[in-house]
Amino acid sequence: MKEIFEIIDDWVGTFWVEVFPVLRGLRSTGIVEIPDENVSRFKSYLEENDVAYQLITVSELNEERIKRGKDLFLDQQHENIFYIGDEARKVRMLVEGDRDNDFFCVGMMLGYPDCCVATLFKTGTESLDIKALKSNFSMIAHIPCSSTCPRTIEYDSKLKADKERYLEKIANGRNCL
Ligand SMILES: [Zn+2]
Repeated sequence: MKEIFEIIDDWVGTFWVEVFPVLRGLRSTGIVEIPDENVSRFKSYLEENDVAYQLITVSELNEERIKRGKDLFLDQQHENIFYIGDEARKVRMLVEGDRDNDFFCVGMMLGYPDCCVATLFKTGTESLDIKALKSNFSMIAHIPCSSTCPRTIEYDSKLKADKERYLEKIANGRNCL
């Protein structure tokens, strides 16, 4: 992983919550949905920054889930799913977990707090006010078990601090030029 990387939040909406933590070594994997027009651009970005990845389309994922008798993935934003990580081995495990629709495996691989993964598994997402639950946090990709979940607060503040540190580092680097 490179120490300095370009911030691409203008064309990758989930940059700060899925890509940044992996680039900074705060999470080992992430899942990023990308529209067709940005697929090759995103591939080059990952390659430049030594991020391992596997690209699977939503239809491929669902074909595999049908074969395995699992529920389909339906709430996608874009057709292309990039599974990214610091090691190809972990990316493969993440893909396998998602093909199996293995909620626990995927949640653990993505570094989600287990209290949140367990709660979501029990209650499902239908009855939850996801927006309200997430409203206290700007750097998380998961649905927290509560808006005051201590593990989520800890993770969110750690990432926020790291984001500030990184932005500062970039700004200082520019001053030196
Ligand atoms: Zn929690």
